[in-house]
Formats: sequence, C-alpha cells, structure tokens
Amino acid sequence: MEVNLTGLTSANTEEDKNPLKMLILGSGPAGLSAALYAARAEIAPLVITGMELGGQAALTHTIENYPGFPEGVGGSQLGDLFQKQAERFGARVEFDSATAVDLSSRPFKVTTYNREYLTESLVIATGASPNRLKIAGEEEFTGKGVSWCATCDGWFFREKDVVVVGGGDSALEEGLFLTRYAKSVTIIHRRDTLRAGAILQNRAFANPKIHFIWNSVITDILGKDAVEAVRLQNVLTGEVTDQPTDGVFIFIGHTPNTQLFKNQLEMDDLGYIKTNMLMETSVPGVYAAGEAADPNFRQVVTSAGMGAAAAMQSIKFLEKLGVD
Ligand code: NAP
Repeated sequence: MEVNLTGLTSANTEEDKNPLKMLILGSGPAGLSAALYAARAEIAPLVITGMELGGQAALTHTIENYPGFPEGVGGSQLGDLFQKQAERFGARVEFDSATAVDLSSRPFKVTTYNREYLTESLVIATGASPNRLKIAGEEEFTGKGVSWCATCDGWFFREKDVVVVGGGDSALEEGLFLTRYAKSVTIIHRRDTLRAGAILQNRAFANPKIHFIWNSVITDILGKDAVEAVRLQNVLTGEVTDQPTDGVFIFIGHTPNTQLFKNQLEMDDLGYIKTNMLMETSVPGVYAAGEAADPNFRQVVTSAGMGAAAAMQSIKFLEKLGVD
C-alpha cells in the first residue's frame, strides 16, 4: 500500500487502472438494495458505507412495516441481512465515507477518507440526517441529555423523566420506545394535532407513561453539567414555563445528506436530489435513491425499492456503454 502526497492511501489494485462499473454511496436500505440488484447482474458493485452503517433504519429498534417480517425485525438486524444478501452475490462493502465527488465527466471521481475511486456509474443513497432545533443548550448538552436516537441512548434514562420534541411518526415511535426505560415521556408538539399515523397515535394516547404538552416549543435547554430542564413557550398565549427533565429527544424531521453534490446535480430547495421515475439525476450515469432523493415517503420499503430501480437503470446504462 502506498501513501500519496495528499495523504490518500492507494491500494494499488486493478481499480487504480480500471474504473469501477458501479459505486454506491450509502449502506441504508436504498444503497444495499442497489448493491443486491447490481451484484446479481454481476456488476460487482462497491458500497461505500458512510458513517452510519445500515443508515437510519439501523437505529430503529423494531421495524414493523417492512413486508416479510410479520413479527417485526430489528433495524440493525435488517441492515445486516441486506448486507449479507448483497455480499453473497459479489457486492463489496467498504467502511469509508466520501469527502468529494467530481461528476463533470465520466468516469466519475469519488474521493473518500481512504482513497480515490473512478466509476462509470454512481448510485447516491446517502440518506438524510435528523434536524436540529437550533436553540440554546442543544449543542452544549448533546450527549449530556440531548439525543436524536432513542434506540442508542434510551438505556441511559432508566427511571428518569424525558421530553420528546415533534409530532410525527418518529416522535411517537421513539417516544413509545423510551417508555421501556423512562419513568415518564412528555411529548412537546408545536400544534394541537399530531402528524403521526393513527396506529402510533392510538398507542401513544393509551400509554400511561406518555403525556403531551400541546402548542408549545422549546426555546432553551437548561442545566449545569447535564440537562435539568427545558424552557417552553406556548405559541398561542406566549406563556413561558420551565419543565424539569433529564433528557431531550429531538425528532423534528430530516435534511438530506446531499451537500457533496451541490452545484453538480439538480436539487430542490430543501436539497433533495431531483430524479425522474427511473431514478435518473440531471447527470447521465448518476442515480439517486432513498431519502437523499425522497422528501415524501421515507420508508424502508420505498427506499429499498428506489435502490433496486436505480441499480436496474444503471445496469441498462452500463450495457449501452458496453461496460456491462
Ligand atoms: P415529520 O413527519 O416531518 O414530522 C416532524 C415533526 O416535527 C412534525 O410534527 C413537525 O411539526 C415537528 N417540527 C418540525 N420542525 C420543528 C421545529 N423546528 N420545532 C418543533 N417541532 C418541529 O418527520 P418524522 O416524524 O421524522 O417522519 C419522517 C417520515 O418518516 C414521515 O414520512 C414518516 O411517516 C416516516 N416515518 C415512518 C415511521 C413508521 O411508519 N413507523 C416511523 C418513523 C418515520 P408539524 O406537525 O407542526 O409540522
């Protein structure tokens, strides 16, 4: 292995001379489904995992709406199964992250922490990251009571009082999960109507550990060494109150991880990559799938479907190029 002057390591493999046929960025349901389809077409795709192996789905404790698992399946377990299935047919999975891409000409150039790749086709499945409240105390108390992942951090709040921010499926699903550990879970929502689906709403309303504070936003997260309280403002009356709490779990939507592709691919105002029905982006040979391109459905099953479609279309593109 040689190290070049930019600090990038070069594995000195065939890849240095010959571009890959297909590189996939992201190891969530979209990326690994794309890998499965490409591997079965004997494209030998390379998956660059990104920092979160398995994507956001892997952080979900139980996934109950992915078909084929009538009793539900653990998020990380499903990610493992996706990966094993893709690898069984010849996909390679590298734990690495892209730091730059050049889509101005083909083969496309993808720089990662470890090296540079050239690839004839690219599937972007970089997902989305949870939004921040952007309020005082949020960054300061991250890891000291502020969290975006109940599955990861819920255990630390055994017999404690926590608040959950948001009124969507994530807030309710994660809030329900937190009742396994916490003494109480107070869901703070800025309106008086939940966005979450009926099943989760019914479960949350029926759970004696869950309470709601409506029409309210958090303006500050307060504490000394760790979270001790949140300052609430009622958006209708303007009334300000402090609510004691040990933890703040924030589930207020997501932002697509598409910064790398800015000014290279067409995107909407929120940064979601624009694709057509065939998962084609504005650059031929570049496809996008999953939450990086989907502000609407954002489900494991829809992301997996988009990933499969992106790979199938990419395979056709490679066939036309004569590099299949
Ligand atoms: P979401 O549906 O966009 O909900 C975000 C929630 O946060 C909304 O209630 C919103 O309030 C609130 N919010 C947004 N910005 C806020 C701010 N600055 N301050 C306070 N509150 C704020 O996001 P999500 O719950 O993460 O769900 C995303 C997608 O994934 C959805 O399509 C959802 O169906 C799906 N999902 C599905 C499941 C499942 O099927 N089991 C589980 C998780 C997620 P408003 O309602 O007032 O806009």
